Amino acid sequence: MASITLTGVGKTYPGKSATHILKDIEFSIGDGEFVVLVGPSGCGKSTVLRMIAGLEEISSGEIRIDGERVNETPPAKRGLSMVFQNYALYAHMSVFENIAFSLRLARVPKADIRPAVQSVAKMLQLEHLLERRPPQLSGGQRQRVAIGRAIVRKPRAFLFDEPLSNLDAALRADMRVEIARLHKQLGATMVYVTHDQVEAMTLADRIVVLGPSGVQQIGAPMALYERP
Ligand code: ADP
Ligand code: ADP
Repeated sequence: MASITLTGVGKTYPGKSATHILKDIEFSIGDGEFVVLVGPSGCGKSTVLRMIAGLEEISSGEIRIDGERVNETPPAKRGLSMVFQNYALYAHMSVFENIAFSLRLARVPKADIRPAVQSVAKMLQLEHLLERRPPQLSGGQRQRVAIGRAIVRKPRAFLFDEPLSNLDAALRADMRVEIARLHKQLGATMVYVTHDQVEAMTLADRIVVLGPSGVQQIGAPMALYERP
């Protein structure tokens, strides 16, 4: 588990007309907290998540994880797992291998990989699908694999980038319940980007509303949406 703090974080894309897409972003995520980032399309939600992950450099300010400044820490060393909208699975690998992949990279002994993958597969009801490849799975099953791959690394925090937006409404509702259950079960810190108000309302401990001029509001779901 981890706390994450952004202080004065900005992002500028270089070029002729240097684009200042984010300015002075400030918020903190507590240990084990579920924070949802919302805001209009293009306001920079995904960029904020990618900066926390280290997939995008920050142009100003500072990001700390558990109090430690990580501005220059490479993504793999931050101890975070990211789950993407398009799943980002390896199509030529089995579900087992997809989930095991990061453990293999980290040279976890084979004897430990198998039980780790099995335990995650059980958690996500993927046990009967371990030999399949992603093209042989439904969208919901693929997203479970992507989540399984994130869980198996035992990250300090999970970063979700619109993980359910490629699913139909019924599956989205199921997966929403699943993610809420995982948050309870793992007690992990989660940062979750979505444009779906129902997801934000039902999943968040706190919601961060981003707008063109940075963070517009932060608060518990009720406090934000139940104003007259
Ligand atoms: P959101 O997730 O809120 O929809 P993004 O973080 O994806 O927003 O994008 C924020 C803004 O940054 C968008 O206006 C987008 O066009 C711009 N942007 C993203 N990547 C680049 C890039 N490589 N160069 C210039 N602008 C970019
Ligand atoms: P070896 O059989 O040489 O010990 P592995 O243990 O890595 O090699 O297993 C080989 C392949 O078998 C894996 O890449 C994976 O696809 C599959 N596999 C291993 N264990 C399981 C399991 N418990 N359930 C499903 N598939 C498995």
